Amino acid sequence: MCSKIDFYTELICGKLSETRFIHSIRTAEMCRDLAEKHGFEPDKAYMTGILHDICKEEQDAELERLANLYDLDPVEKTARKLRHAPAGAAYVREVLGIEDEDMLTAIRFHTIGRAQMSVLEKILYLGDLVERDRVYPDVEKYREYAIRDLDNGMYEALKWAIEDCLIKKQRIPRYTLEAYNYYINERLKYG
Ligand code: FE
Ligand code: FE
Repeated sequence: MCSKIDFYTELICGKLSETRFIHSIRTAEMCRDLAEKHGFEPDKAYMTGILHDICKEEQDAELERLANLYDLDPVEKTARKLRHAPAGAAYVREVLGIEDEDMLTAIRFHTIGRAQMSVLEKILYLGDLVERDRVYPDVEKYREYAIRDLDNGMYEALKWAIEDCLIKKQRIPRYTLEAYNYYINERLKYG
């Protein structure tokens, strides 16, 4: 796993700008920390974090080709910045030959979330949001939520994502709404 991690780190170093490369490392580190906290394989979480934004700076035509290998949410079809997630998953499968469905799904949904996410999916969604170089207001609060409880962390993160869409007058992906409805229910179930 270690040499694979080195190989993928080199690869994204060549594919991303310095800022995005550092963000990928920080996300991987946060994913590893969350995995250790929540009883998941740390190396697999780290690898998923390293690869999650691999298509963030992909050329337009290739980005579209890769993203369209997935069924896209109508909002993803109109928002380029969301399409690096499905494109990234397709790249990881097609070019890197990784067939681990959990890793692929985590990368595919790291921007919009979905209902009933796996532990790895939640680790990546939250790890990306609260990695240690993030500086938005309340980041520490969201980091604390994620460290304490992944489901409640998802509820808080999705609530914030939806509020942000409303403030910016942006459309809300159907998957994000379904995720919010799912995690608010989980919260009611377990208090
Ligand atoms: Fe991303
Ligand atoms: Fe990211």
